[in-house]
Amino acid sequence: MALPEYEIFALRYARLEERTRRDNFIVHDPHDDAMPMDYFVWLIRNGDRAILVDTGFNARAAAERGRTLARCPIGALAHLGLTGEQIQDVVITHLHYDHAGNLGLLPNARFHIQDEEVNYACGRHMCKGLFRHAYDIEDVVDLVRRVYANRVVFHNGREEIAPGVEVVRIGGHTNGLQSVRVHTARGWVVLASDASHYYENMEKPSPFPIVFNVGDMVQGYDTLRALAQSPEHIIPGHDPMVRERYPFWGDPVNDIVALHLPPKATA
Ligand SMILES: [Zn+2]
Ligand SMILES: [Zn+2]
Repeated sequence: MALPEYEIFALRYARLEERTRRDNFIVHDPHDDAMPMDYFVWLIRNGDRAILVDTGFNARAAAERGRTLARCPIGALAHLGLTGEQIQDVVITHLHYDHAGNLGLLPNARFHIQDEEVNYACGRHMCKGLFRHAYDIEDVVDLVRRVYANRVVFHNGREEIAPGVEVVRIGGHTNGLQSVRVHTARGWVVLASDASHYYENMEKPSPFPIVFNVGDMVQGYDTLRALAQSPEHIIPGHDPMVRERYPFWGDPVNDIVALHLPPKATA
């Protein structure tokens, strides 16, 4: 039987304007040109299933961190005809606050996460503010509650979660970060999430400064390239260029781009 093909959508739910190039690379970049950051969740679907990748942050976390929430990332699924109640499978790429909030809006979901991400977010490294500051204790506790409610599926390394959908542990940014490899009509697309925040992080390479293990993060760029059909099939986690390279799905006002379609020709 042929491998199923999926559609993939990137739903932007927030944007941070006040970032400059020097904020986004570990190799010192002296430029203070603006380099904003977009925040996304992603939906993978075909006629048989819908898999949400990451869950975004909520209004409380936004207020605490001085971020602006453009819309609820789970509510935005309505533009694709879905509600949070209908989602049965959610991949949590890692537990950082901008990827793992809103779990309460997904009451019927199973959450797919790497063993090492839960170990990391609950272990000794969280005694250090350096590693802890991008986590929100409420999200971590929410996930642990779901472990006790049999709603969490643990993965170790590279595993298929549905025909044509794999999770792959990359580590680096956090010790248990995973990316998602998806079979589409244009070949294998890889949702890198924070394995590469921007296209430039992996292209230079120069990691984003929030990093647990620099070696794993740089090695991860090679892994992303090995997993994807071509470099054009890798989708970074926070790059505003994603919305320029891929076509809008439906009314542009919905702010959803289609990643299973070929990127638009770049000038
Ligand atoms: Zn992160
Ligand atoms: Zn992030």
